Amino acid sequence: MKQVQILDRDFTISIPANKIQEQVERVAQEINRDLEGKNPIFMSVLNGSFMFTADLMKHITIPCEISFVKLASYQGVASTGQIKEVIGINEDLSDRTVVIVEDIVDTGLTMQRLLESVGTRMPKEIYIATLLLKPDKLQVELDVNYVAFEIPNDFIVGYGLDYEGYGRNLGDIYTVIE
Ligand code: 5GP
Repeated sequence: MKQVQILDRDFTISIPANKIQEQVERVAQEINRDLEGKNPIFMSVLNGSFMFTADLMKHITIPCEISFVKLASYQGVASTGQIKEVIGINEDLSDRTVVIVEDIVDTGLTMQRLLESVGTRMPKEIYIATLLLKPDKLQVELDVNYVAFEIPNDFIVGYGLDYEGYGRNLGDIYTVIE
């Protein structure tokens, strides 16, 4: 079994690169089919989704635009903890079909905030495409339209996802060994 060490933790391979490519292509085909004629704008959420976005977009064959956003964390008052804001949305999203492209939906709280933020820009509709979904961790009601993989609750790295900033460059996805 292929293993990697990142800083102080060991990880074992859980989704090999060829399986990732298969599912990314499937998601792209679903999007091509569903959003034909809608000229969607893809909003890729940095940093984690850079690799997923690059591979996904190579298989998108309908006319579309792509842009990148980043979430900035600010220390809020102690009771509410971190408040995340979306930075980098410069496009006019009014009356547009927007596809948010994320690396992982875990509790769903990040996605909920993103939806609120994008929603204030008056898009026609918003779709969510995520590489990974941890269904058992979801804390909010979310309509996740496109999912490459549903995974268990373990911490994973690779294919854009990091551990303390490292591991994003791995082509496979790895699960932490507890
Ligand atoms: P949320 O809980 O708000 O849905 O997810 C917040 C963020 O936590 C994700 O965008 C991602 O950056 C990070 N995250 C959640 N689960 C994992 C994981 O298993 N591995 C890594 N590397 N990041 C994760």
